[in-house]
Amino acid sequence: MIKKVLIANRGEIAVRIVRACAEMGIRSVAIYTEPDRYALHVKRADEAYSLGEDPLKGYLDPNRIVNLALETGCDAIHPGYGFLSENAKFARLCEEQGVTFIGPKASVISGMGDKTQARDSMRAAGVPITPGSDGNLADVDEALELAEQIGYPIMIKATSGGGGRGIRRCDTPQELQQQYPRVISEATKAFGSAEVFMEKCIVNPRHIEVQILADSQGNVIHLYERDCSIQRRNQKLIEIAPSPQLTPEQRQYIGGLAVKAAQAVDYENAGTVEFLLSGNEVYFMEMNTRVQVEHTITEQITGVDIVREQLRIASGLPLSYRQQDISYRGFALQFRINAEDPKNDFLPSFGRISHYYAPGGPGVRVDTAIYTGYEIPPYYDSMCLKLVVWALTWDEVVARGKRALDDMRLHGIKTTANYYQQILSHPDFERAVFDTSFVPSHPELMEYSEKRHPSEMALAIAAAIAAHTGW
Ligand code: ADP
Ligand code: ADP
Ligand code: MG
Repeated sequence: MIKKVLIANRGEIAVRIVRACAEMGIRSVAIYTEPDRYALHVKRADEAYSLGEDPLKGYLDPNRIVNLALETGCDAIHPGYGFLSENAKFARLCEEQGVTFIGPKASVISGMGDKTQARDSMRAAGVPITPGSDGNLADVDEALELAEQIGYPIMIKATSGGGGRGIRRCDTPQELQQQYPRVISEATKAFGSAEVFMEKCIVNPRHIEVQILADSQGNVIHLYERDCSIQRRNQKLIEIAPSPQLTPEQRQYIGGLAVKAAQAVDYENAGTVEFLLSGNEVYFMEMNTRVQVEHTITEQITGVDIVREQLRIASGLPLSYRQQDISYRGFALQFRINAEDPKNDFLPSFGRISHYYAPGGPGVRVDTAIYTGYEIPPYYDSMCLKLVVWALTWDEVVARGKRALDDMRLHGIKTTANYYQQILSHPDFERAVFDTSFVPSHPELMEYSEKRHPSEMALAIAAAIAAHTGW
């Protein structure tokens, strides 16, 4: 069994990994850059090491991190999500230096990280893929010609893309001509690769993804699906497990496809196979070769601790479960509480958290690294808290979500929490009928009045009195 893990990440996922290590008797090592000196993962890990002044460089420096792991006697590195988690060079460096990378082999990461290569593997394995280009596009002329064959609308996507960036929909040749260079420049800036490819745009699909676990003995199981159709600009906001919109036959079919996809590439460790669903059609979209932000909801419905399984698999142990041991119960929702202002085009809202009271009560889980007095640094992701609720039925879980969002007090920054209340109260959400067009087709949900904290009210009143009296 692994004895000591370096966590190559920050924020809530680093804390999540520290917790799993603590429960398994594994020592944890945090890394941080100076803006994170007072971050929770630094306080909670058994040891913590600074990687310098620059906010980002340390977290993105494979050599530095692997050397630190060796110097501090770690036998494994957990990359979390984002940062180096899908960086094949990093995984390879770990392999070469004899430190266990908690994830699949470097060759699998690079094969799946390249979305056109992933499409090739899936086509060969008999997993249905979205109609689109064979490999990358050479130039805009090839794109225009292919789009005529496939039929508009189409999507231009960055081959190395992730996090919802580097994806543009084009409805006409004119739009394609405009968007093509934009995706290339976005891809070059964000992912260091100018490669792009084309997919048919599946109009108003549902995003359904399947959680996979695979061990080094070749056992592969799935932990059912998540519905991540509530998205803004291709980024997930609220995730749901299981999908309230699948028939038992669809559920079984998609679970089977995901296992087949993982087997086809000799997958090892935790991973997610993402699909688009339109009517009865299912298309493979991509595979994420890491733990996902929304792994929590799968944990709530199945009872499986996914990070624990990751650590066991990386230690060479077989899966703790066979497929027939996995069942699910009830529904879980996850709200990504982002430090953003929905009323101002979701502009990031960093700053000091003046008050934070965690929601609680039955069926509530919070994964976060924030605390009262914590200052959210402007250099990282705006997601600052994951609120997860569980209940036996759909109606109950929606009611519980509303109640838990209402329980939470998070002041000093703007967040997406009140916006999520609006979504939960929409009749279509309440009756569980939605697809990826839900958020863009309901701009009116961003019109709500802010509830204000009593101390903010007091300040506002004091300021008004002061202005009035000339004090
Ligand atoms: P998930 O698929 O786990 O829900 P996201 O797609 O939201 O997660 O990505 C998780 C984090 O990783 C986000 O901070 C996102 O910006 C980042 N991320 C994902 N893929 C990439 C990538 N290819 N390059 C850089 N950052 C990425
Ligand atoms: P990322 O790596 O950034 O997560 P994905 O390929 O998973 O990118 O796509 C992110 C989201 O973009 C999907 O969940 C979906 O909403 C939308 N999307 C991607 N490809 C298509 C497509 N071919 N048709 C319609 N929507 C798509
Ligand atoms: Mg994706």
